[in-house]
Amino acid sequence: MNGRLADKVAVVTGAGRGIGRAIALAYAREGAQVVLAGRTRDQLEAVASEAGRNTLVQTADVCDEASVAALFEQAVAAFGRVDVLVNNAGVTFVKPTEELPLEAWLRVINTNLTGPFLCAQAAGRIMLQQGNGRIINIASLTSLAGLPMRAAYGASKGGLMALTQSLAVEWGPRGLRVNAIAPGYIRTALQDDLVRQGLFPADRITARTPVRRMGTPEDIAGPAIFLASDEADWVNGETFVVDGGWLANGWVD
Ligand code: NDP
Repeated sequence: MNGRLADKVAVVTGAGRGIGRAIALAYAREGAQVVLAGRTRDQLEAVASEAGRNTLVQTADVCDEASVAALFEQAVAAFGRVDVLVNNAGVTFVKPTEELPLEAWLRVINTNLTGPFLCAQAAGRIMLQQGNGRIINIASLTSLAGLPMRAAYGASKGGLMALTQSLAVEWGPRGLRVNAIAPGYIRTALQDDLVRQGLFPADRITARTPVRRMGTPEDIAGPAIFLASDEADWVNGETFVVDGGWLANGWVD
């Protein structure tokens, strides 16, 4: 198989829709064998048919250690190895912090931070034996800047950036590379829900973005291919901001 990821085995969490779906399809186009993980089987199966080749659908909850263990066991059983993990599964919750229920805080932290830890640990055990592997964590602008009413989300994504650096330092000498992508505002189901609730000012965000549009899931796929490829061998511990210039913009339009 040709392509920049020819014959690599990649596990993508949250692959049934949005950014995870775009990354999974792009990886398959680049020749990877892709394990599509998430909780909703029919969405994963739709992505598998679209990819049309060499995929494995595996329902998994990233918050559940046994489910994560089964995911990586199945990946190895199907394809023999794991070269790339994309920790993409994530949820958000927007609420004034003084009203944020503990249950919502824990759900966001469990999904966005503990989930990537569990998946990185399971993948890392396999990759350390192989002597190589790539882990790509999907962080956020909230890893680097504060947004109101997103205390749990921001804490989870700030933690994910710190986890990226810790793992990059610990596992870099043993052949692994661990990086993050911090996407800007991407129009997906996660944001559509906020638009419906009036909690997402899409026009103002577009106006502040120098590229003058919101991102699409496909905008994140290119950087995710690069970080998974052999060309990124000296990139480690990096959080790669992909946001049309939103964070760089110090001006008021
Ligand atoms: P979506 O809501 O469209 O997709 C989220 C995916 O995560 C779904 O496939 C969902 O599948 C999966 N998921 C959620 N919880 C779990 C779980 N416990 N176990 C396994 N899978 C789970 O979101 P996006 O595509 O927008 O977001 C993807 C990632 O990108 C997230 O980490 C998000 O924080 C991040 N991000 C998004 C931005 C945006 O503007 N959209 C900006 C910056 C970062 P299912 O429910 O079937 O399990």
